[in-house]
Formats: sequence, structure tokens, C-alpha cells
Amino acid sequence: MNYRILNAEPDNYSARAEAVLAEIGTVENFTIPNPTPDLFLGRLAEADVLIVRLARQINREVLDAGKRLKAIVSATTGLDHIDLAYAESRGIKVLSLRGEYEFLRSIPATAEHTWGLLLALLRQIPEAHASVLRGEWTRDLFRGHDLAGQTLGILGLGRIGEKIARYGLAFGMRVLAYDPYRSPWIEGVERCHTQAELLKQSQIFTIHVPLNPTTVNLVSSREIGLLPFGAVLINTARGEVIDEAALLAALESGQVAGAALDVLCDERGPARQASPLAAYARQHTNLLLTPHIGGATYESMAATEIFMAQKLKTYLESL
Ligand code: NAD
Repeated sequence: MNYRILNAEPDNYSARAEAVLAEIGTVENFTIPNPTPDLFLGRLAEADVLIVRLARQINREVLDAGKRLKAIVSATTGLDHIDLAYAESRGIKVLSLRGEYEFLRSIPATAEHTWGLLLALLRQIPEAHASVLRGEWTRDLFRGHDLAGQTLGILGLGRIGEKIARYGLAFGMRVLAYDPYRSPWIEGVERCHTQAELLKQSQIFTIHVPLNPTTVNLVSSREIGLLPFGAVLINTARGEVIDEAALLAALESGQVAGAALDVLCDERGPARQASPLAAYARQHTNLLLTPHIGGATYESMAATEIFMAQKLKTYLESL
């Protein structure tokens, strides 16, 4: 086997994963800073395999340029950056982490970041830090809220939602979830039978559903209006699951007392630059934004790269 593999996101790529890839072919690391689209598409034309994460939209134009492509490897569970239907129609196999439940249970990064956002928001950690750097020492300004005793509502009780549920229980919270597809249920977590039932009780509401046509704007003004007044909202799933205009209005009215988002609508596109939420966050301390770093730890990324390299090897050997 000597496949040509184009790694489009090679920064800090696991050496162990590279060793697995070397067993199946020759790897070209695409490291050119600020490449023109044509340069990338030109390299892609030579490749049998493309390795990506989330930096690029793998749309029709890209797929058409990959004339020899047999497989795309994406070490992600969300696949909304790839035109899956078109890839399938071109006979290109998309290998990802979707459905790899047993392996994914060992990957904690996004759940840990979600919890970090929650603590940072409720204890105003970024703003308190900034105030100390300004030379202040004003404890009274930064009185926060306990997690213990609060009600945590989880939308989507999959891999990440389940870890969040367990953290919530460990912190002494009442934990509720809504997930119509989940079975078996988790001991200690109260099951809501409708999303509305969950929303009405969630003082802290956190979103862990995948983005698909049924979950676009799943949390819109009606849903946000069902939250208790002054609730807190966290989203580390995908930006498009929330109607951002509705969230902005809720932050301005106080219906949502604070929010933390690791994802924005069209975050890789031009709309992010003009995001009204980013503009709000520049002026207010009750909205925290991070640049989709939930899964970005050295350990979790290396583990997923090694897993995906082995999955690619098995796939190519089966052809
Ligand atoms: P998962 O597939 O294990 O869990 C998703 C759960 O949502 C499933 O249990 C499913 O039954 C449930 N669900 C689907 N539609 C629903 C609905 N309408 N209402 C309620 N529940 C619903 O996925 P996961 O690994 O837990 O990840 C969740 C999402 O988080 C991913 O799809 C991805 O988009 C996002 N994610 C973000 C990052 C990041 O860096 N911020 C990293 C990994 C994953």
C-alpha cells in the first residue's frame, strides 16, 4: 500500500498517529501559511486521502478537486463541515468519530471545557482576573453563585451530556435531562419527557445535541422564554442549534443572566466578524466566548488522531 495522504491540519499532530499513517502511505503535511484556495485544491488533486478537522469547509468544490480521493478522515463527531451526501455520491468514504461510542467515552475534553465555562461564568473568573491585572482587589464585586443545590438541565444525554450529568451530580446539583433517543437512562438523573419540561426547570441549561436539520434553531425565543427568569445557558455543541438573535434579546432583557458559548453560527465564515453576540461580549461580562476549543487538549486530540489513523488503515486494507 502506498496511498498519498494529505494532512490539511498537521499542527501538533500525534507522532504515534503519523507512525500508523507511514505504514499505509506517504503523508504530505499542508503547512503553507495563508495558502490561496487554488494552492490547497491543487495539492488535493494528488491525494488519495484527506485528513481534516474543522478548519475547512469540505464542500462540492473541494470534493470535486479531490479527483483521486478515496477517503476523508475527520477526527470529529460533528460532521457539518463536510458535504456528506455529495461525498457519498462521489464514492468518497468519510471516516470520523461519529458512532464510536466505546472509544469516545474515554475522551473528556469537551465535557471538561463545558464545566470550566460554567464555573468561569458563575464565579466571574475572567473579569475578576482582569480586575486584579488592573491593580484592583475588590472582593465584593465578584460575589458568585454556588453550583450545589441548583438545577442543571441537559439537552442531549449522549457522550458529552452524560459526563456533564455526572459532574453535576458530583457537585451536588439536581440534574435533569431530555433526550428522547437515550437508552438506558442514567441513575440519579431525572428524565424529562419533553423539552419544555426540561426548560421550565433548568436554572443552568446546557446543550449537547448534534447539529442536523431537526436541531437547527432548536433553542429559539419560545424555548428561551420557558427557562426560569435569570437562567444561565451554556452551548458547546454547535452555534446553529441556538437562535442567536433570541439569545441576544434574552441577555439584554435579563431572561438569561449569563451565557457561555464555545461555538457560534457560521463561526468559520465571514458572519463571525460581525457577530452581534461578539459585539455584546465586548461590552458585557455575562457572556463568555471561546473559539471552539472544547475538544482541543493535547491528550484528547492525540488519542483521536491515533484512533482515526488506525481506522483509516483498517479501511484501506479492506478495499
Ligand atoms: P452524541 O451523539 O454522543 O450525543 C448527542 C445526544 O443528543 C444523543 O444522545 C442524541 O440522542 C441526543 N439528541 C439528538 N437530538 C436531540 C433532540 N432533538 N433533543 C434531545 N436530545 C437529542 O454526541 P456527543 O459526543 O455528546 O457530542 C454532542 C455534540 O457536541 C456533537 O454533535 C458536536 O456537534 C459537539 N461537539 C463539540 C465539540 C467542541 O469542541 N465544542 C467537541 C465535540 C463535540
